[in-house]
Amino acid sequence: MKPLVAIVGRPNVGKSTLFNRLAGERLAVVDDTPGTTRDRLVAEAEWNGVVFDIVDTGGIEPLPRAGASALATDSAQFVPQMRAQAEMAIAEADAVIFMCEARLGVTAADREVADILRRAQTRRPDGTRQPPILLAVNKTENLTGEQDAYAFYELGMGDPYAISALHGTGVADLLDALVAVLPPAAPEAETEAVKIAIVGKPNVGKSSLLNRLLGEERAIVSPLPGTTRDAIDTPLTYAGQPLILIDTAGVRRRGAIGPGVEKWSVLRTFKAIARADVALLVVDAVEPFSQQDAHIAGFILDESKSVVVVVNKWDAVEKDTYTMDAYTQRLRSTLHFLDYVPVLFISAKTGQRCHQVLPLALQVQAERTVRIPTAELNQLVRDAVVRHPPPSRSGRQLKINFASQVRTDPPTFLFHVNDPELAHFTYRRYLENQIRAHYPFTGTPLKLSFRRKND
Ligand code: GDP
Ligand code: GDP
Repeated sequence: MKPLVAIVGRPNVGKSTLFNRLAGERLAVVDDTPGTTRDRLVAEAEWNGVVFDIVDTGGIEPLPRAGASALATDSAQFVPQMRAQAEMAIAEADAVIFMCEARLGVTAADREVADILRRAQTRRPDGTRQPPILLAVNKTENLTGEQDAYAFYELGMGDPYAISALHGTGVADLLDALVAVLPPAAPEAETEAVKIAIVGKPNVGKSSLLNRLLGEERAIVSPLPGTTRDAIDTPLTYAGQPLILIDTAGVRRRGAIGPGVEKWSVLRTFKAIARADVALLVVDAVEPFSQQDAHIAGFILDESKSVVVVVNKWDAVEKDTYTMDAYTQRLRSTLHFLDYVPVLFISAKTGQRCHQVLPLALQVQAERTVRIPTAELNQLVRDAVVRHPPPSRSGRQLKINFASQVRTDPPTFLFHVNDPELAHFTYRRYLENQIRAHYPFTGTPLKLSFRRKND
């Protein structure tokens, strides 16, 4: 697991600007898929060779932004969301960047966030390391900025780092300090077992599904609970295949909440997804999709994990013959899942189709690890090009010299071409579909990258 860094602070201080700056270069490399309008919530960043994930908590617990003046955003009405952001950050992150801005000096909202962070920190009861907090004072690109930052000693959060997220000044010093306090990436234990995370917002039926899966006669459960602090790992053997079910629902943490109440944390869900091979995204057939569903789906896509969407409580839905199709279409467009993502309609209550969940997850994992032989891949690509040649743009046409699958997990294909600029989105999509026509890679995203022949 890479360490996770959370940015917190009141609205408009520049959190998403810093997020984009830290994530920017990497996003440009990884995310060459136009047409995705989704905001990223977590992105990988790197400084001095240290790789970490960064999250803008403002994007997860969004605050109204439109037309809000700097002073309006300081208002008390935002305190509940700021509290939620700060508590989530303290509970789940390995380090926190607490952001203020110089121009207004220390505001009431800054003090509020500082208090919440301090309180949340002292409440961490489970003996795990408390995340260090770095205080960043933003918008200091003018001359007095450095001096303005000194006022922020008042918050009792240590030395303020004067930065400009917009222009980049001071960010290097902040990052030097950050990577110095980050814990090293925790290595995942080597295992043959397929890791399957059961994720979804509260009350969709994750625990009920887990119980069904564990109750199945072919599942042999070996009790080894509590191997991580973020989720409960249940090792089992299914049809001869070792699995680990990563369960986020059963976690009742941090003492601050009553028994039986799940303290919802989308970051905990993110961490479970990051460790998994396959995510079972459970949604509630009776409830409309919500932003929480979309966030979780976004994490799965961002992390290039394989996914099976499990629509639960199907017993409680009034159906006619078209309902499943209509539901699936709505699901794909709302959660940005393309056709390759399988959707299973189950009832954890009655057991309907629950026996299909693990076989499908294992099929998805088996396909995820497929490696297409190079000769076969090139034949497939040549055939595809003959059937449907790349369109030419201002007299120039894409020429594919050679293709190879450079890795699995996720399956990644490298095309050596005359000019990557000529590989347009629709043609990339066409090539992907041609690959999938032979090798479906059910539930698994593919990466297609295009390089100039001699590079
Ligand atoms: P968030 O609500 O904390 O995520 O804040 P945003 O990142 O959306 O930034 C709020 C506004 O402050 C935007 O108009 C940014 O362009 C601006 N901003 C961000 N960083 C800086 C900076 O370093 N200097 C200046 N002058 N403006 C900035
Ligand atoms: P979790 O918070 O995602 O772990 O959800 P639970 O497994 O605790 O289930 C939440 C509620 O939904 C409980 O009241 C369950 O009895 C109910 N539930 C779970 N699965 C089903 C189902 O398939 N059909 C119906 N009708 N109710 C279900």
